[in-house]
Amino acid sequence: MKELVVLSGKGDTGKTTLVASLAGALQRKIIVDCDVDAPDLPVLLEPKTGRVFPFTGGKKARIDQKVCNGCGECLRACRFGAILENNGLFEVDPIRCEGCGVCKLACPSNAVTLEDQRNGEYIVANSLFGSFVYGALRGMHDS
Ligand code: SF4
Ligand code: SF4
Repeated sequence: MKELVVLSGKGDTGKTTLVASLAGALQRKIIVDCDVDAPDLPVLLEPKTGRVFPFTGGKKARIDQKVCNGCGECLRACRFGAILENNGLFEVDPIRCEGCGVCKLACPSNAVTLEDQRNGEYIVANSLFGSFVYGALRGMHDS
């Protein structure tokens, strides 16, 4: 199988238009929009609802309160200010947490776990020009 890749670091150069045109012209192909941040190809290819698969990327720390001894080592170790302390209770702010794992290394009680984050979906659908795979980050199509 041959791969034909269209890419550019610059927006508004016509990548989506070119790929949509190729998709219409070529036979026996699978079309993929790899830009999960802002996929534009679905606008042109009008995919019908297909199979939706979870996409997990990155991790978030979680503190097991039953195991935590309240020593505060994780708070001192975290460079992102993602550990919060409230009356001796240590918790992770999931918005700030970058999933680096330093708190887990610092914790003497093994109270920290890193959990996979579901960030969105990838979709395998039929479109105007055949099989089409694209992604959607969580929140993109929530309304
Ligand atoms: S995983 Fe990293 S960013 Fe997240 S709370 Fe732990 S040290 Fe902070
Ligand atoms: S380092 Fe571990 S035991 Fe200490 S406060 Fe953080 S999670 Fe609790």
